[in-house]
Amino acid sequence: MNNKNPQKTVCVYEPDFFRRFADLSYTCESWRDPAGNFIYISPSCERITGYTPAEFYQDNTLMEKIIHPDHLEKWLHHQHDISPSGEYKSLDFLIITKTGSRKWISHYCCAVYDKNGNPLGIRSSNSDITIRKQAEEALEKAARLDPLTGLLNRRAFMARIKNEEARFSRSKRSFCLLMADIDHFKLINDTYGHDAGDYILKELSRLMTETLRLQDSIGRWGGEEFLIMLPETEMSGAGYVAEKLRAMIEKHRFPYQEHQLSITISFGISSYTDSMSINDCLKKADDNLYLAKRHGRNRVFPENIQEKE
Ligand code: GH3
Ligand code: MG
Ligand code: MG
Repeated sequence: MNNKNPQKTVCVYEPDFFRRFADLSYTCESWRDPAGNFIYISPSCERITGYTPAEFYQDNTLMEKIIHPDHLEKWLHHQHDISPSGEYKSLDFLIITKTGSRKWISHYCCAVYDKNGNPLGIRSSNSDITIRKQAEEALEKAARLDPLTGLLNRRAFMARIKNEEARFSRSKRSFCLLMADIDHFKLINDTYGHDAGDYILKELSRLMTETLRLQDSIGRWGGEEFLIMLPETEMSGAGYVAEKLRAMIEKHRFPYQEHQLSITISFGISSYTDSMSINDCLKKADDNLYLAKRHGRNRVFPENIQEKE
C-alpha cells in the first residue's frame, strides 16, 4: 500500500474493472435477465461444467439441461422461490458435465432490481463442492456401516428398527427379528487364524445379503453376531427365511488357502407385537438364540414354525 497517495492503488475507475473482476472469479458467476437469458457468465463455467460461456449465451436452457434429472424438480422449485426482497437463496445440486462426469454445485442467488424497482433478473454464484460432498458421503457411510463386512452397524440398524416400529403403529403389519450367531467360531480363529475368521465374516455377510429380499435389513450386531429384520413378516415366514439361510450356510464351502472351510449358524426369532418395546423384541430374539445353542446349535428357535412363503 502506498500510504502517501492511497488513491493511486484503487483501479475502480478503469473502464473494464468490474468485467475483469468477474472474468477472473474462480466460482462461476452469472446474471440471467427476467426471460432467463444469460446476460453474463464468467469463463470459470467451462472449468466447472465443461461448457463455454458462448454455449450458455446460445442456449438459455443449458443450465436446466445439465442439472441431474433427479435434482431438476428442486431446481425449478427453487427458481420460483427466489425472494423479491433481494435476499440470497441457496441450493446444492448435481450436474452432468460435458464429459459426462457428475459434479456437486453449491448455488447462491438473488433477484436484481434497478433503482426504480424494475426486475433485472437473477444474479448467481456457483461453486464446485464435489470434493466436500464426497468427503461428507464417505463420513456418513463410515458412521453407518461396519468396516469389515460393509453391513449396517448396530446404531444404523437400531434406526431401521425404530422406523419399522413407527410404520407398525400405522399399518399394524408386524415385523420379525432374526438374531444369528456363528457356531464355535472361536475354533475357526484358533485353527486357521484371525484372517480366516475375518474372511468368513465378510463372505458370510455377502451370502446372507444376497439371499435376503431388498426390503429386509441385515446388520452386524457384534463380533460374529448378526441381526436381520424382516418387515411385514409373520413368525412362520421368518422361520422359513431363517431355515433357508441356515441350510444354505451349512452347505456352503469357504475356500481359504488350501482349505475348504465350513461353518454352521444358529438363529433366534422374535415377532414384534403391540405390547412390546424394541428392547423386549431384541431380548426375545436373543433368548431364542440362546435356546437354539442349548438345543445343539445349527438350528432355528422356535423350531418347526416355518411355512413356505
Ligand atoms: P458359540 O457357538 O457358543 O457361539 O461359540 P463361539 O466360539 O462362536 O462363541 P464365543 O463367544 O466363545 O467366541 C466368539 C468368537 O468370535 C471369538 C472371537 O475371537 C470371534 N470374533 C469376534 N469378532 C471377530 C472378528 O471381527 N474377526 C474374527 N476373525 N473373529 C472374531
Ligand atoms: Mg458364536
Ligand atoms: Mg457370539
